Amino acid sequence: MAIALETCHALREAAALLGRAPAARFLGGGTLLVRALNEGEADFSTLVRCLDPSLAEIRASGPRIRIGAAVTMARILATRELDFLHSAARSVGGPAVRAQATLGGNLFAPPPYGDLCAALLALDARVSVQSGYSARDVSVEDFLRERGNGAGRTLVAGVELTRPRDSRAFRFLKVSKVRPKGVSMLTMAARLEESGGRLSGVRVVYANMAPAPARAAAVERALEGRRLDRTGIEAAAAVASEGFSPPTDSLASSWYRRAVAPVHLSRLLTGDSKRSA
Ligand SMILES: Cc1cc2nc3c(=O)[nH]c(=O)nc-3n(C[C@H](O)[C@H](O)[C@H](O)COP(=O)(O)OP(=O)(O)OC[C@H]3O[C@@H](n4cnc5c(N)ncnc54)[C@H](O)[C@@H]3O)c2cc1C
Repeated sequence: MAIALETCHALREAAALLGRAPAARFLGGGTLLVRALNEGEADFSTLVRCLDPSLAEIRASGPRIRIGAAVTMARILATRELDFLHSAARSVGGPAVRAQATLGGNLFAPPPYGDLCAALLALDARVSVQSGYSARDVSVEDFLRERGNGAGRTLVAGVELTRPRDSRAFRFLKVSKVRPKGVSMLTMAARLEESGGRLSGVRVVYANMAPAPARAAAVERALEGRRLDRTGIEAAAAVASEGFSPPTDSLASSWYRRAVAPVHLSRLLTGDSKRSA
């Protein structure tokens, strides 16, 4: 099947084209789209690429950070100011994949992918979305809900987020059966900021425990206002799988994912994630 490649110079132009043509897809780094094409599984007839420089921009000098959707995992890893995202970016595929894989594409990647997306959800990032000629910002949570509802194709311009107050306040863990670059059986990310020695504004996110990365609400409730000590970690582990009906797939059964979630959550919270990654 012949695929048309359209090149746009401005975000609005690309978004309008995507809005008009249901069989058009935005081309990020192409690690998933080109693979689908090569394997004869393309459900699109047009690829749209956009040369707007804002897509490749990183603004990370202050506490509020903006990362363009076309920024690759390799560029995140090469940017010292984004060190808190390095563990998540490094967990995506091998070096060849990371050189192409973009942040924007990761927000759309289906399970077992979406590792950086899980980190962005834990960090409460805002997604800048361009639909046709209108632009808006949505939380990653709302973005994923709209994605799950099959809402119309939108163009992601980038994300904005606040840098964690200190490097230990953000934790990321990927459990994979093949090291070092296997896909995730279970991914966890957490923002664990403290105020007066107690956790405040806790966010804990799982990927591959649901159709899209999702917050572990029971764990967040168990940790909020507590100290991150043994008692707090045990309380969180006790409700680690609450609210989740994980999938059974070639990587693990639903039962197994539920059974190991408390173990990996405890490692994430104690900062012992090297044993799981
Ligand atoms: C061998 C291999 C290993 C991998 N390992 C991992 C892994 O460990 N972890 C992981 O998370 N992922 C993994 N992936 C999946 C993938 O590489 C990443 O998720 C990557 O971030 C996808 O980005 P991309 O730019 O390549 O997406 P593309 O293939 O370009 O696009 C993917 C989807 O996102 C849409 N899209 C892309 N950018 C935008 C945008 N700005 N606005 C709107 N829509 C957009 C496309 O239209 C398409 O539907 C792997 C892939 C391969 C081939």
